Amino acid sequence: MTLARAGVPVEVFEATADYGGALRSTEFGETGAVIDLGSAVHPFVAASPFFTEWAALERVPYVTPDISYAHPLPRGAATIAYRDLERTIDSLGADGDAWRRLFSIAVDHPIQVSAVATQPVLRTALKPWTALPMAQGIVRALLGHPRPSNGRAAALFAGVAAHSGAPLGGASSASVGLVLGVLAHTSGWPLPIGGAGRLADALVADLRAHGGVLHLQRPVRHWDDLPPADVVLLATSARDAERILATGPGRRTRARRTLFPGPGVFKLDLLLSEPLPWLNQEVRQSPTVHLGGPAAELRHAEREVAAGRLPAKPFVMLTQPTVVDPSRGRGRHTAWAYTRVPAGCPLDMTEQILDRIEEFAPGARDVILSITATRPAELEALNPSLIGGDILAGTTRGLAFARRPTLHPAPWRTPVRGVYHCSSAVAPGPGVHGMVGHLAALDALRTHFNLAAPALGSTRT
Ligand SMILES: Cc1cc2nc3c(=O)[nH]c(=O)nc-3n(C[C@H](O)[C@H](O)[C@H](O)COP(=O)(O)OP(=O)(O)OC[C@H]3O[C@@H](n4cnc5c(N)ncnc54)[C@H](O)[C@@H]3O)c2cc1C
Repeated sequence: MTLARAGVPVEVFEATADYGGALRSTEFGETGAVIDLGSAVHPFVAASPFFTEWAALERVPYVTPDISYAHPLPRGAATIAYRDLERTIDSLGADGDAWRRLFSIAVDHPIQVSAVATQPVLRTALKPWTALPMAQGIVRALLGHPRPSNGRAAALFAGVAAHSGAPLGGASSASVGLVLGVLAHTSGWPLPIGGAGRLADALVADLRAHGGVLHLQRPVRHWDDLPPADVVLLATSARDAERILATGPGRRTRARRTLFPGPGVFKLDLLLSEPLPWLNQEVRQSPTVHLGGPAAELRHAEREVAAGRLPAKPFVMLTQPTVVDPSRGRGRHTAWAYTRVPAGCPLDMTEQILDRIEEFAPGARDVILSITATRPAELEALNPSLIGGDILAGTTRGLAFARRPTLHPAPWRTPVRGVYHCSSAVAPGPGVHGMVGHLAALDALRTHFNLAAPALGSTRT
């Protein structure tokens, strides 16, 4: 889109029969109900520089819930991340102060936080003052705040930090927890009405309106699968980028440092007769629910997965979009739930996930009309970028986010002039924010075409 809007003729080659990748929705059987194949909640759509300049929220209908995420606890208790920070602090009672100390400074600077989170780390290093508001929160999280003694706040933060896919307590989980937490308390965690695929539809419509051409069922595995071009942007896994570069000009076999694979994901799609019967009434109002119990339990589960083992009580990420978007259910409700497993794990985790849901929503099995289970290998079959079911495009442990694939202010550049690698395997990494491709395209416009950044805000039909 960025290239096409600047007037460059663009052709896009998509391997599968449908566009969108992890931004796709489909019908649940033939029920008319909609389920998301990948992402469901888009915190960055209201915050990333690309999506805000493109005015995504004006082009695609979104709903932003008052509750960004909920974290049920034993015996019907729960902690709730409201969009309103003060309300969250009040609801945490004695643990509220711990939450305030973590978030209050960063929440006052959401634009800087989003800008830093959606850039390679070294670009931030050139303007360190923009990172200051979030640095304070990250340092606190790295020092072990909220403390285990702040039980409710500790569980709430563990759940949001677990989106990182990295063991809790490290740099990745601290940063991801802080950034997603700030978005939760500012622009919120919006969900596209009608399904995540609506955003992909709008992006493709914009590409086509600016002359871009999309080819479906055209996997690119070899340099010769591509037509001659001045510039090539590989929005693929690191593995595919390496293979393509190895067959291209210069045959660069070690062109990209392959990322270590991250854990896989086992996903359930659920068609429900009624909303899930969470014991806690406020959890019933939240589309996103983190099922990990107390912080120590969640921490243990994520450590087990990182060590290549299956935890007895896995952490489950659940989203029930019909809570705020009934249009998707056609009179029913839909939810997806996933848990991390060692990469490529062939085991069926359906019962473990359902047990976890039942623990906090007794009777949940009674409202399930139908279940579709997707193992890691099946996720990869749906989308070749999800290697071994890894939805985060490589390990996120330690400083891996910063080094995707190398510590560089323009990590999308490859050793081959005019060839860029710009999927979520490249910094700033995973999430629906649009920034890796956008930043690589701006680099290509400047370097190869001597063109300035195009306006993203205008509309052409
Ligand atoms: C189950 C799941 C849940 C998620 N939940 C969320 C969420 O709620 N919120 C959020 O922000 N993020 C979420 N994510 C992560 C987010 O969706 C991804 O980080 C993001 O979509 C990555 O974008 P991408 O363009 O790099 O890759 P993808 O979205 O994976 O798209 C890659 C595309 O390229 C195609 N492709 C790959 N290789 C080739 C090739 N060699 N030739 C031709 N075509 C190729 C694929 O078929 C695919 O269409 C989730 C991901 C998954 C899978």
